[in-house]
Amino acid sequence: MRYQKDKLIEIVGINNYTDDKNILESYASSVNGSEIEPMGIVYPKTIDEIVDIVKLANQKNIKLFPISRGKNWGYGCAQGTQKNQLILELSKMNKILNVDQELCYMTLQPGVSQQQAYEYLEALPENKLQLDVTGAGTESSIVGNVLEKGFGHTDYGLKYERIINITSVLPDGEIIHTGFKAYENANAKNTYRYGIGPCIEGLFVQSNLGIVVEMTLELMPKPEKFCAVIGTVKNEDALVNLIIALRKLSLNGIINSMVHVFNKARIIGSQKNTNVGAWSFSASVSGHKTITKAKKHIVRKELKKEVKGIKLWFITDFIMKWLEIFNMYVKALSTIETLKCLVDLQKGIPSNLPLKTLVNNDEIKLSDIKPHDFPEHFRWISAVCRADQKSIPKLIKTLTAIFNQFNYEFRITFTLINSRNLIAIANINYPKNEISIKQANEFYKHCVKELMKTGFYPYRSGSNMYESITGVEYSYSNLLRKIKQTIDPNDIIAPKKYNI
Ligand SMILES: Cc1cc2nc3c(=O)[nH]c(=O)nc-3n(C[C@H](O)[C@H](O)[C@H](O)COP(=O)(O)OP(=O)(O)OC[C@H]3O[C@@H](n4cnc5c(N)ncnc54)[C@H](O)[C@@H]3O)c2cc1C
Repeated sequence: MRYQKDKLIEIVGINNYTDDKNILESYASSVNGSEIEPMGIVYPKTIDEIVDIVKLANQKNIKLFPISRGKNWGYGCAQGTQKNQLILELSKMNKILNVDQELCYMTLQPGVSQQQAYEYLEALPENKLQLDVTGAGTESSIVGNVLEKGFGHTDYGLKYERIINITSVLPDGEIIHTGFKAYENANAKNTYRYGIGPCIEGLFVQSNLGIVVEMTLELMPKPEKFCAVIGTVKNEDALVNLIIALRKLSLNGIINSMVHVFNKARIIGSQKNTNVGAWSFSASVSGHKTITKAKKHIVRKELKKEVKGIKLWFITDFIMKWLEIFNMYVKALSTIETLKCLVDLQKGIPSNLPLKTLVNNDEIKLSDIKPHDFPEHFRWISAVCRADQKSIPKLIKTLTAIFNQFNYEFRITFTLINSRNLIAIANINYPKNEISIKQANEFYKHCVKELMKTGFYPYRSGSNMYESITGVEYSYSNLLRKIKQTIDPNDIIAPKKYNI
């Protein structure tokens, strides 16, 4: 151990390695109540340092777990896959390497936070590029989220689709570029993701086949006119009609943003609010002024026709400003903060409000929040579902039965991540004690098993959760196993992540 520690310090410097007990504890804990203690944390600053760490890991059988900023709330936080791993935290590799305002893309390192990228783009002289952000807070990363197939709120919300190229350090220390970036003089290396031959960027997503050190992503041009669409419907049974109507609008190219549909408990918990119906949704229509106006008209007409009793609000920048002034000088509006947050996320502006509602303590600095700052434990349960008439009720029925059986409040969001698919994300909160943690684990395992039995697989997983995913055909997992064995014979990068 002493030798390994000395060598690591030699590579990264004394200030970029720690095995301080308190720090290890915070990396060990996940907000779901599980603990996986690492051997140390290392904060490399360059690709060369990562290559040296990887070489040392091979020589000394050190298991590495790479993270970008480790804000993987609800999916394992900064926890490794097994005890005694070296967490490779890349938050000090936080440079934005290139932004092209003409063809709208940026190349960044994994340590760049949502807030940093947002401020960087806003400060550009022309200020015409928009980010897609998640609700995970100002300090969460962009790269780590993309690598987990995360999604945000804008037209570019399904982030995996926006990868142009990836630079990755392989488990033997070799550096590889994907797409045309693998061809040094390719004209379209930072614009054309497909390259020539197999597309291999997918190998580095939800996997353990490399350490991603750079990524180029497409960015959305800021629309000339932005308009958020918020809707709510009182009737519990309106969900299927609502989603089908939204799906049609999406398939026909009227709505291009992610559409998030929430049940009442997911938005306001047990608070009373007569304005919020059984199901509410948020989306946006934006682009050229004339097109946005026409889209607003179609959205209103179609939703009113298809969903009985639906209430709709169209919030432009002007209306949002006006509401804020009204709230400040005329009458306080109870939902203004939530509304502002929804609109901000749709405009690619990071917000800490979703975290704040979970933490509920003004004394905790949200920009520096740690797993133990959350007053309760929580878990996400996700399921990918066809956006059709048959599948939605089937999924709801399966989930509500299990939530009722285990006596948890049913909180759920359905995100129309494209015109054909929904990702359902439900969550449970529970007190920080052994009995509740045990029950939540049982609930989680049972829930995932029942969902998979009915055909609904999670879109993402995390430490302590991979074992629950079964049902994959042999040839698929065998190919991944062979690739892993070939490029990582010593199994040094995140062993067993995604069961690879
Ligand atoms: C209130 C709240 C709201 C949230 N909203 C959203 C949301 O809207 N959308 C969403 O997708 N998620 C959401 N999340 C979940 C999660 O917090 C985010 O996905 C967050 O972005 C993940 O943290 P991170 O970006 O710091 O990634 P990290 O924790 O750094 O990375 C995530 C995982 O990716 C892998 N990884 C990261 N970097 C590398 C690398 N360089 N090389 C190889 N592997 C790597 C690791 O396995 C790591 O565990 C939310 C969570 C909460 C609590």
